[in-house]
Amino acid sequence: MKLIILDRDGVINHDSFDYIKTPDEWLPITGSLDAIARLTQCGYTIAVATNQSGISRGLYDEAMLNRIHDKMRHLVALEGGSIDSIWHCPHLPDFGCICRKPSPGMLHSIAEHYSVNDLCDVNYIGDRVTDIQAAKRARAKPILIQSPMTDSDGLAEHGEVPCYRRLSDAVSVILT
Ligand SMILES: [Mg+2]
Ligand SMILES: [Zn+2]
Repeated sequence: MKLIILDRDGVINHDSFDYIKTPDEWLPITGSLDAIARLTQCGYTIAVATNQSGISRGLYDEAMLNRIHDKMRHLVALEGGSIDSIWHCPHLPDFGCICRKPSPGMLHSIAEHYSVNDLCDVNYIGDRVTDIQAAKRARAKPILIQSPMTDSDGLAEHGEVPCYRRLSDAVSVILT
C-alpha cells in the first residue's frame, strides 16, 4: 500500500501558540487540502499524527477535537480527498507517554494498524524538529515543512532532510 503520514498543525492548518481549540480556529493553509486530495487520487492512504496536549491542559476535550477533525475531514472531502485515520497524543510533555512526538509511538501504531512492517518507504511530513526525530526513530522518511514553529537551529544535527515551504510543494515532488 502507499501510505503517507502527516502532522496536522503547521502542515495542514495554521498552527497557533494559543492552540487550536475550536473548529473556527482550524484554518487550512493554502493548497493543503488540494494536496491531500491529489495524494488520495494517486492512491495514497493518509494518516494524521498530531500532538494535542491542549486536551491535558484543559483547553478543549476529546469531543471538541472530534468536531475540529470533522471540519478538517469535511473540507478535505470537498476537494475530493480523504484522511483515512487520525491519531493524537493528548498528554503533557512531562507525562512520559510513548505517543507524544518526538517519541515514535503514534507512527508505530499507524504501521501496526495498516500492517506495514517497515516504514522505510513511508514519508512523514511535519514542521518541527520533533517531527523529524519521531520519523527517524520510527525509521520513516522525514520531510520538513517550514512553518513559524520550525526551529531552524535545531535542524542542523539532522542533516539532509528534504524541506519545503508548504505541503502542496512537498506533494508535488512526491507525485512526480
Ligand atoms: Mg506541527
Ligand atoms: Zn501521549
